[in-house]
Amino acid sequence: MKLKKGDIIIVLVLVIASGFWALNNYIGNTRSVDNLVVEVNGEVYKKIPTSELKEDQHIHIDFENNRYIDIAANESGTWVEDVICPDKLCQKTGVINKIGQSIVCLPNKVVIYYEGEKNQEIDNVAY
Ligand SMILES: [Zn+2]
Repeated sequence: MKLKKGDIIIVLVLVIASGFWALNNYIGNTRSVDNLVVEVNGEVYKKIPTSELKEDQHIHIDFENNRYIDIAANESGTWVEDVICPDKLCQKTGVINKIGQSIVCLPNKVVIYYEGEKNQEIDNVAY
């Protein structure tokens, strides 16, 4: 059997396409959450892809009146490590690690949550 140049290209395209499909499927199955989002005052302050949470992340944000919040995140989840805040509800929330969960610090106007679509699909199917 002798392949013409055009045939080889078609075969190559098919191989690459199926490779992408397999890769996409693989990522879709193993990584269900896409970003950790920290909002301050209604604006996105920081967005960390969950793939970067393999290493411990620490986010320190300073506010007026010497207030601050220390957020820690890694593969197991995200939590408020330390905060100057009247009610400390944000710290009492504990660890969040999936879409739908959030940590809110009303006094400092901080919202921490995960965003991504694949996890929501999984949640809907999980019933
Ligand atoms: Zn708070």
